[in-house]
Amino acid sequence: MLPHPRLLAVTVIACAAILGGISPLGCQHTDGQSVDGLIARRSQAIRVLQQRGLLTVQLREQLQSAKSVSAVQQLLEKAQAQSLVNVPLKADRCAAWLQRICDLGSRTSNSVGMKKQQQLLKDHFTRLGGKVQLQEFDVRHPQDGSRVTMANMIVQWHPQRKNRILLCAHYDTRPYPDRDPKNPRGLFLGANDGASGTALLAELAELMPTYKGSLGIDFVLFDGEEFVFQVDGGEYFLGSTYFSRNYKSEPPGYSYKWGVLLDMVADRELELYYEVNSLRYARQLVLDIWKTAARLGVKEFRPRSRHEVRDDHIPLNQIAGIPSCDLIDFDYPGLGRKTSYWHTQQDKPENCSGVSMARVGWVVWEWMNNAK
Ligand code: ZN
Repeated sequence: MLPHPRLLAVTVIACAAILGGISPLGCQHTDGQSVDGLIARRSQAIRVLQQRGLLTVQLREQLQSAKSVSAVQQLLEKAQAQSLVNVPLKADRCAAWLQRICDLGSRTSNSVGMKKQQQLLKDHFTRLGGKVQLQEFDVRHPQDGSRVTMANMIVQWHPQRKNRILLCAHYDTRPYPDRDPKNPRGLFLGANDGASGTALLAELAELMPTYKGSLGIDFVLFDGEEFVFQVDGGEYFLGSTYFSRNYKSEPPGYSYKWGVLLDMVADRELELYYEVNSLRYARQLVLDIWKTAARLGVKEFRPRSRHEVRDDHIPLNQIAGIPSCDLIDFDYPGLGRKTSYWHTQQDKPENCSGVSMARVGWVVWEWMNNAK
């Protein structure tokens, strides 16, 4: 995805504004057992619990008096486990899927990792009763002009239904971690940016046999979201653009009432704001989803706008005419941090959370079971 150019300014201002109440050490990435490590971990735990609406006065006191990183971790995990009691998605399984996908290495379009991922997902969705198709298309390689074959994966549930919901994510990863300060030509794993939406759909598939809604459901995994080899510029959204043009020029005999895009949904410090383009094209859908989150008490969904993002939902809205929204947490690792993990080697499983994924997935699941 691409942030709107205004985004950087917004982020910097937010950083200055939010640090007031938090130790500046919380802004640094520290893993050690040092005092700094303990303070950083404590700040992070407090932030996570605040974001999830789980921080009680008592819990804050317990965290303040915890003497080790592991004690802080235990308190955090206990509170998070309680927040999952009514959630039908399994946080452990979400995290395991994310890890499994990242273990394939790079999943850049047409790579060995992408092919392995396609097989893994195809087997998984088929086993659970989904009807899986690959929608292939060719593009020109932006560097040497050679032909590259890409494929969107379409998984249908209740294929006979004429009115459908499109749940989507991109499953390719950017070729390089261009924004990594140390190793911009190293391996990019795309744990949050690539694997998180895909892993969440893999987990939602486990629930599909119990789906009670009246609409048909399609999961679509877009290829070529960022087959981009330079930091700025380049052509994005190749798979979603092809999908949207094809839907328009060769109507499939059914129609999508709503589209929901999942991108960067695994941040440990998850905060989801209304995305500006989603409000512009699919206001009712955005409000419905956030209303569902409020009903469930998933406080990570913040009912106000923050970022304007260009992502796979743009062609869905503009070309296919499907009212679509983007669920994306672009502040990775968190609002107000000095560094961003986005497009760096820090976008790895250790910086993601199955709890975040399960809670986002719960909201989507509840919404889709009631969508008309
Ligand atoms: Zn990206």
